[in-house]
Amino acid sequence: QSQLESFDPELASLIVKEDNRQKTGLELIASENFASSAVREALGSCLTNKYSEGNVGKRYYGGNEYIDEIESLCMKRALDLFDLSPEEWGVNVQPYSGSPANFAVYTALLQPHDRIMGLDLPSGGHLTHGFQTAKRKVSATSVYFESMPYIVDQETGLIDYDDMEKRAKMFLPKLLIAGASAYPREWDYKRMREIADSVGALFMVDMAHTSGLIAGKCLKSPFEYAHVVTSTTHKTLRGPRSGMIFGRKEFMEQIDTAVFPSLQGGPHNHQIAGLAVALKEANSAEFKQYAQNVISNAQALSNGLIKRGHKIATGGTENHLLLWDVRGNGINGNKVEKVLDMVSITTNKNSLPGDISAVNPGGVRLGTPALTSRGLDETDFDTVAEFLDRGYKIAVLGQKLAQEEFEARQEAGDTEALKKKKAILKDFLGT
Ligand code: PLP
Repeated sequence: QSQLESFDPELASLIVKEDNRQKTGLELIASENFASSAVREALGSCLTNKYSEGNVGKRYYGGNEYIDEIESLCMKRALDLFDLSPEEWGVNVQPYSGSPANFAVYTALLQPHDRIMGLDLPSGGHLTHGFQTAKRKVSATSVYFESMPYIVDQETGLIDYDDMEKRAKMFLPKLLIAGASAYPREWDYKRMREIADSVGALFMVDMAHTSGLIAGKCLKSPFEYAHVVTSTTHKTLRGPRSGMIFGRKEFMEQIDTAVFPSLQGGPHNHQIAGLAVALKEANSAEFKQYAQNVISNAQALSNGLIKRGHKIATGGTENHLLLWDVRGNGINGNKVEKVLDMVSITTNKNSLPGDISAVNPGGVRLGTPALTSRGLDETDFDTVAEFLDRGYKIAVLGQKLAQEEFEARQEAGDTEALKKKKAILKDFLGT
């Protein structure tokens, strides 16, 4: 029995259940992955005990000689992985995760209420890029900074760079942001830098989703054009949950100060150590192969769905994710996600271009990083497409039966049963 099992069997058994869920299901959430045992060993190490506010060599606590070495090693590996010269680029590996990394960049480079422009959330952007609705400023980014998004073309699903340029010339942002949570295509960083330059904005790339694929040299590197690049470390990069900020040398002092003391306290040294391990793993021939496989698997999944009659936004994918358009037949992304959950296939509902409701989006986001880590190949992903197709058909059938039942009971005037049935169906198929 482990210490945890004997001291806290209640919690230990929940972890066992989650471990089992992760191992027995098909994990298709595009932002998830399976960190290696080595990464998890570092995460669970004594490093969680240590306080080390400050930066390497300049700490506000004693006893940091090894912590300094660990953080320096992590920073060196981060720069090496992306072929960055320490003369031109610096990196801060202390952000607790991707969201605080982004907010630290805004506080470093902008004044409160300066303007920023990123991809709209319904177009695939991330909350931290400034999402707000007509009624509410949803993200803290949109509370403390003024944001106006750019969007994807509603027909093609592709980023409309001409429209982005028009919006930038009208809004005059101080910061233009590339990067997304749900965009299946490559970015035109060169064009975005030109747009940023033309309005006097800085250019930031949030490569959270794609950093592993960029590290594996399967996607274009943004570093030639960006002033600042942020990333999470637990998605395609397959590290611990954490964040990184890369900045051109002239911005690093502001960035370091924004992370600490502006926004954070003590660095999470166990995460930094876990990240150092992941960066070493990513700088290998095996990882390059992994990154290639992630993309070829995403394409196999996309082709597998298309050949079974499904629609994929933008017609396919060039990275690790695809947006499955499940609109029609009275169902939506919610319902498909729910039915797939019942058969241990984990996905998430996602907005598609043209969706009216963000609560009931028409798409499901699918990603291949996690199952590629488990060794699935293109043939396996065709089988996954088959399972998804079956799940989809069950959702459609369930919806049809529900509708028939509803109409029959309505005709019979069975209001009580009808109420119950509606509740049951709501539970079964989501809203
Ligand atoms: N940036 C992008 C593009 C993301 O997709 C995410 C998370 O999904 C984040 C930032 C935020 O990362 P975290 O959830 O670690 O705060």
